[in-house]
Amino acid sequence: MIGAMQIQRLIAALVMVGLAGAGCRYNPGPSGSPDQARAFLTEANDTMLKLAVNAQQAGWVQNTYITPDTEAMAARANEAFMTAVTSFAKRAAQFDDVELAADERRQMTLLKNALTMAAPADPKEAAELTQLVASMEGMYGRGKFCQGGESDEDCLDVEEITGILATNRDPARLREVWEGWHSIAPPMKKSYARFVELSNKGAKELGFADTGAMWRSRYDMPAGEFSKELDRLWQQLQPLYLSLHTYVRARLHDRYGDQVPLDGPIPAHLLGNIWAQDWSNLYDMVAPRGAGTGVDLTPVLKARNITPVEMTRYGERFFTSLGFDPLPATFWERSLFVKPRDREVVCHASAWNINMVDDLRFKMCIDQTAEDFTVIHHELGHDFYAREYATQPPIFRDSANDGFHEAIGDTIAISVTPEYLVKVGLIPRAPDASGDIPLLLRTALERLAFLPFGLVVDSWRWQVFNGSVTPDNYNKAWWDLRERYQGVRPASARGEELFDPGAKYHIPANTPYARYFLSAVLQFQFHRALSKTAGCETPLHRCSIYGNAEAGKRLKTALAMGASRPWPDTLETLTGQREMDATAMADYYAPLKAWLDEQNKGQKAGW
Ligand SMILES: [Zn+2]
Repeated sequence: MIGAMQIQRLIAALVMVGLAGAGCRYNPGPSGSPDQARAFLTEANDTMLKLAVNAQQAGWVQNTYITPDTEAMAARANEAFMTAVTSFAKRAAQFDDVELAADERRQMTLLKNALTMAAPADPKEAAELTQLVASMEGMYGRGKFCQGGESDEDCLDVEEITGILATNRDPARLREVWEGWHSIAPPMKKSYARFVELSNKGAKELGFADTGAMWRSRYDMPAGEFSKELDRLWQQLQPLYLSLHTYVRARLHDRYGDQVPLDGPIPAHLLGNIWAQDWSNLYDMVAPRGAGTGVDLTPVLKARNITPVEMTRYGERFFTSLGFDPLPATFWERSLFVKPRDREVVCHASAWNINMVDDLRFKMCIDQTAEDFTVIHHELGHDFYAREYATQPPIFRDSANDGFHEAIGDTIAISVTPEYLVKVGLIPRAPDASGDIPLLLRTALERLAFLPFGLVVDSWRWQVFNGSVTPDNYNKAWWDLRERYQGVRPASARGEELFDPGAKYHIPANTPYARYFLSAVLQFQFHRALSKTAGCETPLHRCSIYGNAEAGKRLKTALAMGASRPWPDTLETLTGQREMDATAMADYYAPLKAWLDEQNKGQKAGW
């Protein structure tokens, strides 16, 4: 559920800044008094709220009615917003030495850390930088694999290649389309290297060591500590990942023979996904023999013809069962639930709070599938979160850290257990314990298999931004990391004339990625804590917080804090812990790990 499928446009995103506007030439002047600082914060809050609402209105229309005009209007509104944020970020630094109340100081800090990309002060360089990112994103968006050259009518786009990797089992064909997709990236390499130079220059002007350090500064701890924090969390999960890797590798060996050696990394093109970040398409190949299949909701939704709106109502009722208010009537009037027949829309699921108060919406082309049932919960998590923190000052209308926003809806989705489905009348009875392993294996292929990839993307970028990886070894560094963390290897030799990182959307689009790793860890930590609050005594994977007011109250209190406090405070409110803790995920999958280790007996683990 992470990655390609749902990289959301963050709703209340004061930090949704993907592109800084053109260079701002603000005259710093003398450093201000506390009164000036307060006046500045009022101005920043008011202006950003107004411009964010403008940008969201334009963005909504553009997303639900794509035309050259709506695209131009949305781009203008976005640029106005981002230019303002850049200017406020630079101005905030003037008040560094002014003594302020804690919440005012925090607003200044968030303003300074709000940018994903800082434009250099030189307007020519700033324009070049914006232009570079727009063109790389365009190259990615238009990327196609054309076997017969550019004029080929049968060119494959990312959706089609995704489909082939998901279902085709012919290794030669898989390798061909895998290489084909990666061929979109080499033309971006030069642009990317220049983008790194310029965005680093902008970051340095704001006082950061480089762009990667600027990203890491958002986590209420020194930038260097954050990388160590990720390593610590990964150490807690690596044994579990290793068990899954060993098991899946053996099944792939059964299928493909020596193409998948039992003691080496797995060829990346055989894992059912372009980036080997989600292995759930392999489920049929690795399913336990003779065991049940667990619950599959897709045929149930289809047989009972549960409409997209009704599917969304199930999600809403989960939240109201916890004590949240129902969604406003405007949500149902204004949201987009199905793909319109008469116009182009962006089908990629996203959640919105247009006026940053209560104009909640979502936009999704819902199919009657179990997968979309889960995505609905994910998106509603964004909406309910946004409404809870809507009474905060605009700068605080965001999640505790970016991993939190992605984790809330997924936390609810973890509670969509077979017993819950029985309770709400979707299935007649829950499978007995023999259905647990299939169920856990199915989700592990998605959530657990994702984790190391979630680390690779930004580990690579941080090294690129700090200069320890240079254009001469971009590709080598990328594959070294992928082998080290994921235990995968490329389908074929990859030289530096290629640029494989560019074949992943978030690199050309310059979207930070660590949040998806954090979200995966946090959602299980939330689930464990809320299940405990709800008094659940069964193994964690059987707990559902549905209908539990105590758990709901705890969740609501934490969500209402928005970004007003350092995230450890919010985490403590929600879980009682001040540190992120991946042992919750390990606990959740403990029964699966025991089963995998049993299957893996006699096998060498690792590569
Ligand atoms: Zn999301």
